[in-house]
Amino acid sequence: MNDILFRHNRPDRAATFEEYRAEGGFQALQKALADLSPDAVQQTVIDSGLRGRGGAGFPTGKKWSFVPRNLPGPRYLICNCDEMEPGTYKDRVLLERNPYLLVEGMALACYALGVERAFIFIRRGYELAALNLKGAIAQTHKAGFLGSAICGSGFNLELDVHQSAGRYICGEETALMNALEGIRANPRSKPPFPAVKGLWGQPTVVNNVETLSNIPAIVAHGPAWFKALAATPEGAGTKLFCVSGHVQSPLCLELPIGTTLGEIIDTHCNGMRTGSTFKACIPGGASTPYFTKDHWTVPLDFDPVAKAGSRLGTGGIVVFDQSTCMVAATLNLVRFFARESCGWCTPCREGLPFVQHTLERIESGRGDLADIDILREHVHKLNYAFCALAPGAMGPVEGLLRLFEDEVREHITGGKCPVKG
Ligand code: NAD
Repeated sequence: MNDILFRHNRPDRAATFEEYRAEGGFQALQKALADLSPDAVQQTVIDSGLRGRGGAGFPTGKKWSFVPRNLPGPRYLICNCDEMEPGTYKDRVLLERNPYLLVEGMALACYALGVERAFIFIRRGYELAALNLKGAIAQTHKAGFLGSAICGSGFNLELDVHQSAGRYICGEETALMNALEGIRANPRSKPPFPAVKGLWGQPTVVNNVETLSNIPAIVAHGPAWFKALAATPEGAGTKLFCVSGHVQSPLCLELPIGTTLGEIIDTHCNGMRTGSTFKACIPGGASTPYFTKDHWTVPLDFDPVAKAGSRLGTGGIVVFDQSTCMVAATLNLVRFFARESCGWCTPCREGLPFVQHTLERIESGRGDLADIDILREHVHKLNYAFCALAPGAMGPVEGLLRLFEDEVREHITGGKCPVKG
């Protein structure tokens, strides 16, 4: 298997600048600056089929192509590293192992987009990753791959690391821009999308860490090579899957996108813990509907997962065994989202605590059968919230009602949790 993102891994520390260079680092940037126009780099990314790895899966090259070419003033690139989706830790692992891949990926993206100033917005708790990044940016600057007239070309670029104040909503791309501008991190309405009107009103592309870290390999080896890495004919590239929960070996691994859930758990995580049998999992971070054993052979790629009723999301897989009460698991997630609501719009501010309290009643055996329909109605209604937070929170609730309605009913009719007793 061709590792792209974990190619430069050391077992116990991050790769140094010299190691990254010796293993081909910054050659893609040199090649682009010497031989490729910005449009050619953009076309290569479009042709590669790369889709956003932050959770939404929007085609990366297509997003870049929305940036207007003729507007006066600067454009910006923001790398979103506000990784706060419960169950998701891939960007942290990536930056703790090799921050240079992101720096080179951002330089290539900025060259393609005509950007001269870019930001990395990083989660407050990611101290080591931020330290690594700041060091990598300084080293790269010293070596002449950042700054003015990079590699003797006309391309200039400065990168800044901004550590988040620390709320989940700051990772929503428009709230993130408000946070960077120093104002309250409420989401903005879309459209206009950031690619047209973003940071300080200027065209801004927001891409995830893993997405940008794929760019050097795509430019170095070409779109056909990248596409061929996928396990499915329609897919492109590899994916970082970060697995946690009741498996024998929880870990973050790079695999062809489209690898099945069963292969990830059985082969790469050494199966379930002793005494555990698989009951369900969150396939792609806390806002994605559950998968069960029926989904064992679903290729974990955007379209097949959507067809199977969930979302690939971030690739953060949380595995539950037979001892897990699915109502309690869902309540735990909804509590998180309710706490993290920014309070800006009514469906989210009022709806999430309501759903939380309804689940609390059911979980403690005080629920009513009418609560099931009330929850269903909220899954529908919370889609009308202002941003993706509340609809995301309803992902596991929708999965609970579709896949585990019997377990919910048993809580109500039996007056107690049928799993925990
Ligand atoms: P989205 O589908 O609204 O947008 C995805 C991206 O495509 C955005 O950058 C958006 O600007 C762009 N886009 C979409 N349509 C466009 C258009 N017509 N023109 C120009 N640009 C366009 O999703 P989102 O709200 O950005 O993200 C939601 C996702 O974030 C969820 O799927 C969730 O899985 C994920 N998420 C991830 C984390 C994490 O820690 N990585 C945390 C929370 C949520």
